[in-house]
Amino acid sequence: MSGVQLDGVVKRYGDLQVIHGIDLSVAEGEFCVFVGPSGCGKSTLLRMIAGLEETTGGAIRIGAREVTRLDPSERGVAMVFQTYALYPHMTVAQNMGFGLKMTGHPKAEIAAKVTEASRILKLDPYLARKPKALSGGQRQRVAIGRAIVRGPEVFLFDEPLSNLDAELRVEMRVELARLHQQIGATMIYVTHDQTEAMTLADKIVVLRDGRVEQVGAPMDLYRDPDNRFVAGFIGSPS
Ligand code: ADP
Ligand code: MG
Repeated sequence: MSGVQLDGVVKRYGDLQVIHGIDLSVAEGEFCVFVGPSGCGKSTLLRMIAGLEETTGGAIRIGAREVTRLDPSERGVAMVFQTYALYPHMTVAQNMGFGLKMTGHPKAEIAAKVTEASRILKLDPYLARKPKALSGGQRQRVAIGRAIVRGPEVFLFDEPLSNLDAELRVEMRVELARLHQQIGATMIYVTHDQTEAMTLADKIVVLRDGRVEQVGAPMDLYRDPDNRFVAGFIGSPS
């Protein structure tokens, strides 16, 4: 397991600078939540950690390794997106194991990992189904299962629940908390939802215009926000 360290991370798209030198340390096993207004750079930051977006300046470390210039597959991370693009023609089990199959893992090992992930996510009864025969919440579970099966050191979630209805979001929130307890991996999680941030986070990072506005434990930010902007992003705990 590994923590994540950002040192002076900068991102420019052409002339447009969207990340302005971010320093941040996410401890090993920590659940770190990014919040901030639309367009403040949450997804860009996550995609740079994943290696899906080039870093213009600064350095990213995962555990003891500098990964700034490494391919996504070499970083030990798995990302879960808001839209869970599952392969429609594959079963749940095939969708979950596909990443490992592509990297040449033996069938027995893939099957064991899929079984383990499906237990964690309570997907056992659905392994032979196609995605179209699943509910939205079940599909998002498969997308999370796909990440678990790859055994990453770091999970990156970009608003994974925002397409689900309110009731399912609550249910999935509880499952994500359990997942984190159970596998203990480092997790970085982007959300718009204040309750998600307050209940899931060990640490909340409030971003504004590509900069860190404040970092702290949920209750510390709630009780003692540096300014109105931070207060606006930290809801009441529930
Ligand atoms: P958030 O996830 O917080 O809503 P993003 O990281 O998606 O924000 O975007 C941050 C800023 O970078 C926004 O101003 C957005 O328009 C810009 N941006 C994101 N992706 C690109 C891109 N591929 N090319 C140019 N600008 C981009
Ligand atoms: Mg985003």
